Amino acid sequence: MKEETLVTVLGRKPEKNHGIINPPVYHASTVLFPTLDALEDRKNGKKKKVIYGLAGTPTQFELEEAVSTLEGGYDAALFPSGLAAIAAAILAFVGTGDHVLMLDSVYGPTRGFCDYWLKKFGIETTYYDPLIGGDIRKLIRPETKVVFTESPGSLTFEVQDVPAIADVAHQHGAVVLMDNTWASPLFFKPFEHGVDASIQAGTKYMAGHSDVMIGTVTATEECWPAIKKSAAGFGQQAAPDDCFLTLRGIRTLAVRLVRHQETALTLADWLKRQPEVKRILHPADPGDPGHELWRRDFKGASGLFGMVLEPVSRPALASFLDGLELFGMGYSWGGFESLILPAVENFKRTATAWDEPGRLIRIHAGLENPDDLISDLDAGFKRLRKLR
Ligand SMILES: *Cc1c(COP(=O)(O)O)cnc(C)c1O
Repeated sequence: MKEETLVTVLGRKPEKNHGIINPPVYHASTVLFPTLDALEDRKNGKKKKVIYGLAGTPTQFELEEAVSTLEGGYDAALFPSGLAAIAAAILAFVGTGDHVLMLDSVYGPTRGFCDYWLKKFGIETTYYDPLIGGDIRKLIRPETKVVFTESPGSLTFEVQDVPAIADVAHQHGAVVLMDNTWASPLFFKPFEHGVDASIQAGTKYMAGHSDVMIGTVTATEECWPAIKKSAAGFGQQAAPDDCFLTLRGIRTLAVRLVRHQETALTLADWLKRQPEVKRILHPADPGDPGHELWRRDFKGASGLFGMVLEPVSRPALASFLDGLELFGMGYSWGGFESLILPAVENFKRTATAWDEPGRLIRIHAGLENPDDLISDLDAGFKRLRKLR
């Protein structure tokens, strides 16, 4: 089946629900067992069973099946946010004395997790150049247990050579984790590129409507027991209503992504021609340094990209941003609406330098008509020019 079809059929079983198309939302903590035999039998067999709310109900099982199939892994665990999924995935494979290799352009809160929590547990993190490729072998130590990837990187959008990194990691017995949120499960197939466990902030494209927080970790069969143990041991689960909404989002993921991709490229093309725009950071742009790798490994580009402005005064920047009518300013992305966000305190690097003097701005192309979005940006640049 092609993916546009898969997203419509995965994670629902009408024949088990009176013919009703979407899976029902089960709210549960206690689950009753009719007999001692049933109680003692609760964990027998491979099939997922409903034994306690935290361990999942049919609502969660449907989403787990949909996500793991779309990502191409063995099974998936659910979390109340993308960040919770990242923390549990890392902690599934490391203990005191171990070492983690982390890309320098990782999503900011993941860096925060390593610098505070991993450090507190005596686990060392070394940040590496996202473009390192196979040279990561120079940084691997006997105690390196996790090599973390995210491609393209947050804010600066470097495309990583994930297969080359994974090859080296596997030669040294390390596990490769990937934050695959940018591409969603549809535009990058992590398990075809050597990834052992793939993380989605489902908050973004899978849920897709700016009203759900959810995270997922999909793993290979080999890594699944460790992920499952970590999710269960930390008491992690996603709420049933959020699972329902995420399944609903997945139904339109394929068509939404195509539109996000097209509009982002249209905006990037227009922005490139504005004199105040110094650089566009978008892997699908033919002039992007990561373009060839992106073409080799990805099936598409999402709606999130960056631009570097020429240095402008703060009042000029504020007049550009504050007056925008369609582009909202706020965290997160992946919803139907366009967003714009200047990099501020969330921008940190320690292994590589970022020496663009102008402001780095992140744009999420929503599902609006691109002409309306361009008019909004155009009016913004006119305000900016008056104050520059
Ligand atoms: C937003 C985001 C996350 C975290 O997801 P939350 O659900 O907001 O916790 C992780 N990784 C990337 C790349 C993100 O953009």
